[in-house]
Amino acid sequence: MRGVNLGAEWWASNPLTGVRFPYPAPNCSGVAQLAERLAVNQDVEGSSPSSGAKINLGVLSMRMWMVNPKFLCRKHLFGEHYEIHSFIGTLKRGKSIKGYIQNNLCQPRSFKKRHDDLVNEMIARDYKGHKTPIQDIDCQCVCDLPVEYQYSEVNSVKSLTDLLSRCPDCLKRYEQHKNLK
Ligand SMILES: [Zn+2]
Ligand SMILES: [Zn+2]
Repeated sequence: MRGVNLGAEWWASNPLTGVRFPYPAPNCSGVAQLAERLAVNQDVEGSSPSSGAKINLGVLSMRMWMVNPKFLCRKHLFGEHYEIHSFIGTLKRGKSIKGYIQNNLCQPRSFKKRHDDLVNEMIARDYKGHKTPIQDIDCQCVCDLPVEYQYSEVNSVKSLTDLLSRCPDCLKRYEQHKNLK
């Protein structure tokens, strides 16, 4: 943290590993560095789409949930928003996200729309501090991916099941909002 008080809302717990990590302030160039740091161990050696190699999910620390944003507790709402920025940062640095693709944890073609949907929900919950818009040009890195990677999709039913089984706060919100579909 280097003595910088980022405020409580800039902390998140990784949904897969439970590891807590600081969010950089939105206008902080540390965003890119942190994204890179998070991505460093995530490209699994020896795995490729054709090899069918098993990947240890424990090393994958980013995820797009792709469920109705209203179902997400604050931690998961801010977490998924941050992780979309991390995915883009990872790609911009020329790092691979194939482990995430192979495990259906991200949906590259939806980075911008999903980011904007999450931000709209953050705003609906009176959060006014968003300073990290995603422009179309930021998503050009997606076009450099193999086509089958670009169009990889998250199974949102499985995703919702995973989320509700591990987060009581999301489960509570789901119960409140599930009639919204
Ligand atoms: Zn943002
Ligand atoms: Zn949650």
